[in-house]
Amino acid sequence: MKAMVLKKNSLVEEKPLELIDLPTPVPGSKQILVKISTCGVCHTELDEIEGRISPIKFPIVLGHEIVGRVERLGPGSTKFKEGDRVGIAWINWACGKCSFCLKGEENLCDKAKWTGKDTDGGYAQYTVVSEDFAYPIPERFTDQEAAPLLCAGTIGYRALRLSRIEDSQVLGLYGFGASAHIVIQITKYRYPHGRVFVFTRPGQKEHQDLARKLGADWIGATGDTPPLKLNCAIDFTPVGVPVREALRNLEKGGRLVINAIRKETSIPELDYARHLWYEKEIKSVANVTRKDSQEFLPLAAKIPIVPEVQEFKLEEVNEALILLKKGKIRGAAVLKISSELQIS
Ligand SMILES: [Zn+2]
Ligand SMILES: [Zn+2]
Repeated sequence: MKAMVLKKNSLVEEKPLELIDLPTPVPGSKQILVKISTCGVCHTELDEIEGRISPIKFPIVLGHEIVGRVERLGPGSTKFKEGDRVGIAWINWACGKCSFCLKGEENLCDKAKWTGKDTDGGYAQYTVVSEDFAYPIPERFTDQEAAPLLCAGTIGYRALRLSRIEDSQVLGLYGFGASAHIVIQITKYRYPHGRVFVFTRPGQKEHQDLARKLGADWIGATGDTPPLKLNCAIDFTPVGVPVREALRNLEKGGRLVINAIRKETSIPELDYARHLWYEKEIKSVANVTRKDSQEFLPLAAKIPIVPEVQEFKLEEVNEALILLKKGKIRGAAVLKISSELQIS
């Protein structure tokens, strides 16, 4: 099969992903072989490429928002049949036995494996996965629409739940990329009397236009003071300053949820009285559970979520990642994976 692989850490501007031939994987016990049609591009790949989180091996096939069809069943695999459309997300495997797994917190499992980090992922024509870690895709979504639901959507759903927002409250969203543009749609559906305030990088007009289209009640830049205090805020950005800014704008007793696997810059010094006192809370989001995907995918179909996607070919993934780093993707970037790729 063909795959775009990462051979070593590098700045993404150096276009480090390379199209090569790899053996098509063989599904093991209770695994399925999936022929991939689409893979979403997630900010986590930038962290893996640039060395803020470490893949288990090089070369590695990145990518964890995978949509495709079951090509072959491994021994003892019974949940799907050949030809079924499935999705694969960031959580690739968990032990099922540790104290976290037993509490339903498999996202915190020490032995867990993550797709495209601990196993080869979706920037390829095929992948294998345990049948227990694949999800049916609701019919209403095309493959391209479904891909960003698998990470950007699911982790956004988890972040929104952890924010404990209630109807009629004010939610602030810092950063308006792949995840936030889905979260605003969930919020407008679930909490129709609340208000959503969106903060982007200054001058990020495309993101602000999309926020307006999706019903944001106020739009500004990180650093602005909104017309009302925020009961909850979710920070989707890869940098440190929005943490301080969100805390500054929180209402008493408010809660900030940080939806990021790594921050590229430090969180500035906090002033206790200004940023933390009055029972303000901070919680980070780490990974996702299968339950998050199993709850979110049917909800996304019911709402229905309309993901905004910008399509690229698999061979163009370096360019897509550079645009993502610059904050220039409107909605989510997805890769279309052709079965007839040629190495030039
Ligand atoms: Zn992701
Ligand atoms: Zn575990």
